[in-house]
Amino acid sequence: MPKIQYDEHGGIINIDEKLDKKDIKIKESKTRDGYNFLEKLLIKNSKKVNYLLDKNGKYRCRAQKTPNVIRVGPTNRCTGRCFYCPREYIHDKGTGYMDFALFEKIVSWAKTNRVNTISFALFGEPFLHPRIFDMLDLAVENGMKIRISTNAIILKKELALKLLNYPFESIETSMDGFTREEYLAGKQIDKYEQARKNILYLLKKAKEKKSRILFNVHFVDIGNVSFLNKIRYIKFWKKELRGLKYLTSFYYEPHNWAGARADLTREMNFVDRFLNKWELKKPCMYIKGMNINWNGDVYICTNDPTEKAIIGNVNNDSLEKIYNSEKRVNYLREHESGRFKDLNCAVCNVNSIRPLAVIKKRIINCVVGVFN
Ligand code: SF4
Repeated sequence: MPKIQYDEHGGIINIDEKLDKKDIKIKESKTRDGYNFLEKLLIKNSKKVNYLLDKNGKYRCRAQKTPNVIRVGPTNRCTGRCFYCPREYIHDKGTGYMDFALFEKIVSWAKTNRVNTISFALFGEPFLHPRIFDMLDLAVENGMKIRISTNAIILKKELALKLLNYPFESIETSMDGFTREEYLAGKQIDKYEQARKNILYLLKKAKEKKSRILFNVHFVDIGNVSFLNKIRYIKFWKKELRGLKYLTSFYYEPHNWAGARADLTREMNFVDRFLNKWELKKPCMYIKGMNINWNGDVYICTNDPTEKAIIGNVNNDSLEKIYNSEKRVNYLREHESGRFKDLNCAVCNVNSIRPLAVIKKRIINCVVGVFN
């Protein structure tokens, strides 16, 4: 492991550059004329998909000139080095912390345009920002609903107590493994005890306060957590979450970050690779919102960290102009038609349903249910 270099707030500044950051290759085989018969059937009949579209197959969000949710990244530095993170791309244009004045501008625009929610979750660890609580205050004072996502490594007792005074809709925590070894393989940083202790304290205090916040404790299933430990993990955290509102998705399959981390597929075992081969494309839900990085860059979605996904910068243009820009509208059009022409979405697996992998997950969840 290379020597980790930290900034004055505890954010990691160096990366290992293990990825070959060539332009993402969109192969000929991925170029399409539109959705196929099965995909059309799925889009028409699946409530999980068709809620996005109107009766003409157009995104409903086209009718709104501003988004409901804005995701903000107070920083793109992190306290972890997740194995499955596309850090090499995230750090490509430099790293840093959002100016408070820029955040004020975003909130002011959000208020004027009746944006419902600000989610503090983009490419880095939000609690690293020295003014994160001022940001939360400002959002709440301006009538926004708030959400946050953290790996809890620096979420010490006093921060946890402070945090529970805010009217969060949800707090998401990433805890990559049941054992220290599994966590180390996922997060690539030896902070298992610290993160676990911090999450446990947060949940304990939330229960004492009879908090109504929706909690989520999860890991990314990249092969570092054994089958038995998957069961132990769910059992353990279910017990700790009892009495609170929580999401029951304790683990997620990794995605390929719009093709930026296509190498993750190689980490899958043969069976999973096979099960993931058959995929059905669908219009993506991630292009509904707006995602603003620390430096003002606006990304089409949280899952494409490449330069291609930047649709504007708040320092140069108004958020309204960026949201209604031709670049974003082109994303909507291509997703409605199923062509994905020249977009990384053609190779992204977030907007895919892999029926065989879904069946496998259902079976595992049934087995886990029996053990619980
Ligand atoms: S398909 Fe992937 S890259 Fe495209 S908008 Fe959805 S999540 Fe982002």
